[in-house]
Amino acid sequence: MSEARSETRAERIALVDVNSFYVSCERAFDPKLAGIPVVVLSNNDGCVVARSDEAKALGIKTGTPWFQLAAGAARAGLVQRSSNYELYGDMSSRVMQLLGRYALWQEVYSIDESFLGLAGTPVELAAQGAEIRSAVARHTGLPVCVGIGPTKTLAKFANRIAKQNRHLGGVCNLETMEPAVVETIMSRVPVTGLWGVGSRLGAKLAAMGIETVADLKAADPALIRRKFSVILQRTVLELNGTPCIPTEDERADRKQLIFSRSFAAPVTTAAEMRQVMSIYAQQAAARLEREGQLAGVITAYAGTSRFSERAASFPSVTVRLPAPTADPVVLSRAAISALEGQVVEGVAYTKAGVMLTDLSPAGAQPLLDVFVPEQEHRHLGELLGKVTDKYGAASIGLGLGGISASKPEWTMARRYSSPRYTTEWAELPVVKAR
Ligand SMILES: [Mg+2]
Repeated sequence: MSEARSETRAERIALVDVNSFYVSCERAFDPKLAGIPVVVLSNNDGCVVARSDEAKALGIKTGTPWFQLAAGAARAGLVQRSSNYELYGDMSSRVMQLLGRYALWQEVYSIDESFLGLAGTPVELAAQGAEIRSAVARHTGLPVCVGIGPTKTLAKFANRIAKQNRHLGGVCNLETMEPAVVETIMSRVPVTGLWGVGSRLGAKLAAMGIETVADLKAADPALIRRKFSVILQRTVLELNGTPCIPTEDERADRKQLIFSRSFAAPVTTAAEMRQVMSIYAQQAAARLEREGQLAGVITAYAGTSRFSERAASFPSVTVRLPAPTADPVVLSRAAISALEGQVVEGVAYTKAGVMLTDLSPAGAQPLLDVFVPEQEHRHLGELLGKVTDKYGAASIGLGLGGISASKPEWTMARRYSSPRYTTEWAELPVVKAR
């Protein structure tokens, strides 16, 4: 590293990502799970959705049905947990809130990843990365890795290097490494290790002789645009240090959907915030609808600028919905009521967001479900009325609601769930002092 290089101050991008997020949330409250193979299961305890490194080392793949693992679990020392999206959503917003304090700007990218704008010399930036990492560990108990680079693609790549090389201590700033070392690493990582390059695209690139990150970096951007897309062309430019991937306000992957924006003018009243929540929830609902998915848990949050005098004004509430839904009315009602009473009049809120988690495919819902929002079974109400008029009140009912007043969770197997440590008074962790 040359001296001149290390002294240049610049604005850079950091990508902070929680290691094995779901498993790490479980471990934060149950230290017995540290260092052992742990898997988190999907709804109804069906199959593996998250694995600790130790579980990966056992060769367990994402998507493996639990019944295939159950018999051998005890022998392998494998521990399972049901997915606890209330806990994950709440831990996520705590992490994001904390990260925002360190950043010039913040883009929450997924439930456990955020891009941050940082400024400093390469050495200062690496120090900031280390500080962020220890602050998250101290305040939430979650381990993160920090990748720093001049573009989002390089920040993502640096994060991968930080994750895979323990001796780096969880932080990798490409600009504090010798350029020759970075080149060597890039020539060893397959192109599919890059953000946005899946296996199918990887196969097409391999057919053109582009197999590694270094190969793609050296490719002709114009050719890549012609043969593939403007998106992959951006990746090539970003690998060469030119930022060209814009801030995304709306995105989805298999795990969650986030709709988040900064406001042009600050929001200062609860009434305005209700409008914002309603609009964002409807946008998120429209996206769910397009993706053919339903959400089980919603997190609504609002934030102030980092220059705000009232640093504590960052309301964030996570609630489980009565039933999985993509209904815009239900989602906006939930988002509004989540932040009800949390917004302080007169505080200048500069951003807000809605995050939907516990996503499931829309077709998976039973047709006659008492928890389907009212406007979807409007006609059923009419029909039920006619039947009970004729045959009596006990003659027919909607799902469990016809017989008992059980909670919706009742319908779903979550046998191995940890408590909702951070969102339910009755389930708070208890600490005993001697
Ligand atoms: Mg992660």
